[in-house]
Amino acid sequence: MSAPFPIRPRLLLGPGPSPVHDRILQALARPTVGHLDPQFLAVMDDVNAKLRHVFGTSNSLTFPVSGTGSASQEAALANILEPGDTAIIGVNGVFGGRLAEMARRMGAKVVDVEEEWGRILDPERLIQAHREYPAARLLAVVHAETSTGVRQPLEDIGSYLAGTDTLFLVDTVTSLGGIPVEVDPNHIDVCYSGTQKCLGVPPGLAPITFSPRALERIRSRKRPCQSWYLDASLLSDYVGEGSERKYHHTAPINMMYALHEGLVMVEEEGLEARFARHAEVGKRLQDELQERGFTLFAEEGHRLPQLTSAALPGGADEAPLRKVLLDRYDIEVGGGLGPAKGKIWRIGLMGAGATNESVDRLLAAVDALSD
Ligand SMILES: *Cc1c(COP(=O)(O)O)cnc(C)c1O
Repeated sequence: MSAPFPIRPRLLLGPGPSPVHDRILQALARPTVGHLDPQFLAVMDDVNAKLRHVFGTSNSLTFPVSGTGSASQEAALANILEPGDTAIIGVNGVFGGRLAEMARRMGAKVVDVEEEWGRILDPERLIQAHREYPAARLLAVVHAETSTGVRQPLEDIGSYLAGTDTLFLVDTVTSLGGIPVEVDPNHIDVCYSGTQKCLGVPPGLAPITFSPRALERIRSRKRPCQSWYLDASLLSDYVGEGSERKYHHTAPINMMYALHEGLVMVEEEGLEARFARHAEVGKRLQDELQERGFTLFAEEGHRLPQLTSAALPGGADEAPLRKVLLDRYDIEVGGGLGPAKGKIWRIGLMGAGATNESVDRLLAAVDALSD
């Protein structure tokens, strides 16, 4: 047998993927069985139940889409929108921009509510946009905008939309498992995520949940969902407990084991303790960086603990230093995107990476670099 190709381990402190615990890697290596094997179906049912807990929902249609976060993003929009529908979309970073682009490609009339990168979308502005377009099919925001480090407040938008016929769609790819998402209390109708951020599982599955209101909308569509692969009404015949378990596509069996193990670890730690851990190390990193002359990019009071965006001291060019961090210290952090390109680092403290040891290792490297 030839030697396996070499991969140096890195400390993953970028915007994802986050470090993967050995327990999860071991789960990936368990025997592959068939996608209709009762053993596998039991794992899948348990994953769906555990996802309801993390999402904070009792929605029956809750499952991982086969694909990365972008697949669940497309699934969320494609199942709800039909050509000609109006979609109000908050855009204050890359991922809001993608939502708008996807919705446009689906033939929706998109009302972009834009805000400067690094700032939240004022809920009042979104509510105002809805008053102008009350027939909008959906209103979408990104809870944790990974391109800027901003945490979008959801409560007011959710309570307002609950009294209308417009569905509330929220991207929680970077928030699920790191900060509270609370799908039901926030009146979210369609909520999607990914595995490789705060859940600490490799990329490859993308949890999604649909409220009863969203299901009603899916049932009353005039045309079928434009994506066959992501059609929730077809998928529900396979993923739903008590459903026919009809073949749709081959589920990524071993990734499901990995996600299961990741969710067991979330339960063992407890959601509150997990949120507290992310909050604590994120705050510490942000304080320590500011002491070292970094300038935080996200608006004060709305900073994500799991994703810190910061401009380097003295306006230094970020890319060469980021390369040294990787080459010399085996630490990965992300660079800026869009208007923040070349200016900021995006540092993720997510899942198994959200520890004081991660912060210590990064700060030691930063201090060595500036000597
Ligand atoms: C990472 C991310 C996505 C896309 O997920 P992929 O797994 O990269 O496809 C979508 N939205 C947000 C907020 C993200 O951080």
